[in-house]
Amino acid sequence: MKKTTGTDRQITRNWRPATQAVRGGTWRSEHGETSEALFLTSGYTYDDAQTVADRFAGDADGMTYSRLQNPTVAMLEERIALMEGAEACRAQASGMAAMTTALLCQLASGDHVVAAKAAFGSCRWLVDNLLPKWGIETTVIDSADNAAWEAAIQPNTKVFFFETPANPTLDVVDLKHVCDVAKAHGITTVVDNAFATAALQKPMEFGADVVAYSATKLMDGQGRVLAGAVCASEEWINEVLLPFQRNTGPNIAPFNAWVVLKGLETLSMRAHHQSASAVTLGAYMEPRVDRMLHPGLASHPRHELAKAQMSATGPIFAFDLGSRERAFAMLDALQLIDISNNIGDSRSLICHPASTTHASMTPEAREDMGVTEGLLRINVGLEDIEDLKEDIDQALKAAGC
Ligand SMILES: *Cc1c(COP(=O)(O)O)cnc(C)c1O
Repeated sequence: MKKTTGTDRQITRNWRPATQAVRGGTWRSEHGETSEALFLTSGYTYDDAQTVADRFAGDADGMTYSRLQNPTVAMLEERIALMEGAEACRAQASGMAAMTTALLCQLASGDHVVAAKAAFGSCRWLVDNLLPKWGIETTVIDSADNAAWEAAIQPNTKVFFFETPANPTLDVVDLKHVCDVAKAHGITTVVDNAFATAALQKPMEFGADVVAYSATKLMDGQGRVLAGAVCASEEWINEVLLPFQRNTGPNIAPFNAWVVLKGLETLSMRAHHQSASAVTLGAYMEPRVDRMLHPGLASHPRHELAKAQMSATGPIFAFDLGSRERAFAMLDALQLIDISNNIGDSRSLICHPASTTHASMTPEAREDMGVTEGLLRINVGLEDIEDLKEDIDQALKAAGC
């Protein structure tokens, strides 16, 4: 009997998550390669003129051009969709390509977007600058205030856009509540799930319509490539996203797609291990810092909610040392943990958001979203937790904490 490859939807949908992560979407060529093949090709050839005519007419399956389809990219898209429990997925060149595409493909001048105040710097730039410049109104709210979502709705509100947990203040959004409010008003929810991934949180189970990713982070997980993805219903992908994507070209390169495919095989193990280390390290540091922002610790105002909607709270947390001087003193004293603004990596990385990821915002806007001068954001990697504790301990001492 011929063994199934991971593209037979009937069969792969029934596989359990660990099986989907290593086999979902695998599409073997005639060579029967074990690992997914890397198709570095921009175009395709055809046996005859009618074949290509049929493909361009949409009457026959098959590839025509890598801005439209590529076998390696298709494998990644199928695997992400399976892991997400989504009907469909399209991969993008980066997380920001994914966010921009997910928003612009469905919005038009005169529409209104309600977005969370706490967000990745470039996501806030889209909301504060790009959308208004194109005649799309935006309202920014405190995403942890359940009532604020409904209160911000206008007759022209089309989209709710938020991340949870949010970058870098770790605000947690009540997924069920916000998705219910959106549904009741015919609003599309776009959830940036980069901090959790499907390994830790599945927004669609709470009613989210569109889940968008920076796959640069936990999905690759080893700091190698930029990548992104948008998951949604088959209908939304085909009718709303694809006309935009196919003609504007924010596509991922096949090589980067292949790297992320490899990352997905170990995503769940990494995400859970790094989450556990992040809880241990956060609890270890908490008595010595001014303010701890960690959804995995009881001190977080939405700790119970985070535990209820996530299987683990992720590798990232933030803490405040009170001033830029102290924060920089700690960074400069670290011997193992790298100063780096990436997250989701298997290496522990730490950054000062006010001078890096959120530097382009005004000091007032930063203050308003809780990005203070003493705030540091850490991504806890796969290193031995005792080595991480020792490095944190000596660096906190050097900063006078
Ligand atoms: C990093 C990040 C992005 C942007 O992703 P890139 O791959 O860097 O373009 C978007 N949202 C969140 C929450 C992120 O952490």
